[in-house]
Amino acid sequence: MMIKAKAPLRQDSRSRVLDIIRATEPTSRIELVRETSLTPASITHLVRDLLAENLVREVGQGESTGGKPRTLLRLNHDSMTAIGIQLGAASVGIVATNLAGNIVGRQILQGAKDLDPQVIVTFLAQAVADLIDNLGLDRATIAGIGVAMPGPLDMPGGALRNVAYLKNLSGFAMADELEVATGLPVIVDNDATAAAVGEYWLGTTGGHPAYATVYLATGIGSGLMVNRRPYRGSSSNAGEIGHISIDFRGPDCPCGNRGCLELFAAPPVLVEKARLAPASAGLAEVALGNVEDGMSRLGILAARGNAAAMNIIREGAESLACGIVTLVNLFDVDMVVLAGPGFSSCAAFYLKEAQQALDSRTLARGVHTVSVVMSASPRDAAALGAATLALQDKLDRKPSGELKK
Ligand SMILES: [Zn+2]
Repeated sequence: MMIKAKAPLRQDSRSRVLDIIRATEPTSRIELVRETSLTPASITHLVRDLLAENLVREVGQGESTGGKPRTLLRLNHDSMTAIGIQLGAASVGIVATNLAGNIVGRQILQGAKDLDPQVIVTFLAQAVADLIDNLGLDRATIAGIGVAMPGPLDMPGGALRNVAYLKNLSGFAMADELEVATGLPVIVDNDATAAAVGEYWLGTTGGHPAYATVYLATGIGSGLMVNRRPYRGSSSNAGEIGHISIDFRGPDCPCGNRGCLELFAAPPVLVEKARLAPASAGLAEVALGNVEDGMSRLGILAARGNAAAMNIIREGAESLACGIVTLVNLFDVDMVVLAGPGFSSCAAFYLKEAQQALDSRTLARGVHTVSVVMSASPRDAAALGAATLALQDKLDRKPSGELKK
């Protein structure tokens, strides 16, 4: 369940119809009946409501399919907007999206590591206000704010628990506080889950019914989508791939487990390896700045053929691939999308290691292949997903007549 959502994400008839219009526009009531299995009367009522709310508009007549001409429908893209925030330790990404899930504005800010929670709320509220002003958005059209944060999350209220690199936020009710500071409804979700939702809207995943997103920021997470819906588990903490133990005799992890994937493959670990490398390795610049910048520089050096950088990235990619094989064995997805700022400069290494591991080591490899692809927008996926969840939440909270399936 999303924090502060009143019910589990249910793509009700209303948002489902909007989703189909978005994906197939221009479309018609007849096509909506066919796509949704709702009755013609239900579609008529639903479209009437959507037209009255200005979310959809009629845009002329389509070709007749035997009866009277079809009236074509399109989304009114700018009738509703939402803000998505990816709240990370090393950076914060903020996007604004329209009703179609198109990003209409973005901003990157300093990360939240070590900052006082109230300071974070204040700068997020200011950044949201600036983005709204800069884009000239009408506040009345803003559905709300979605915040994507690493887990574990504690519902309800929007608090992180026991995140080693965001200790300052532990127990802080981010959703409640940001709602007060901005005057807008706020929902919070896991960043990897939000990224998985974001990939759907970005169009990365095509028609794949079950896919996972592996999200590399300061930590490592994964989000699962099944039949176009995120799978969240019992407390929105599903998919914590970073805390799969890949060496049960390995070092203690702050999470309480031992030998976790994050201890071998998370960007802070790889950047630290670079820092400890001898001067002759040519990696001195990697340790400058925050971990995200360091990971980016390490990836650039690896891509340019620096042997030490290539070894560090390859070892990280091999460990991550091990976790991805486990993820696929558990959930039988047929597509894995890599997303998050950690992949920004070294995607090729990760794609290669993950694809090789999946082709040779998954249990169901004789039954079906699993493809690994890079996100259409690794940096924005989580923030976009969070924004679309805020849109969805707003749409789902607004009843529309007596629709019955
Ligand atoms: Zn752990």
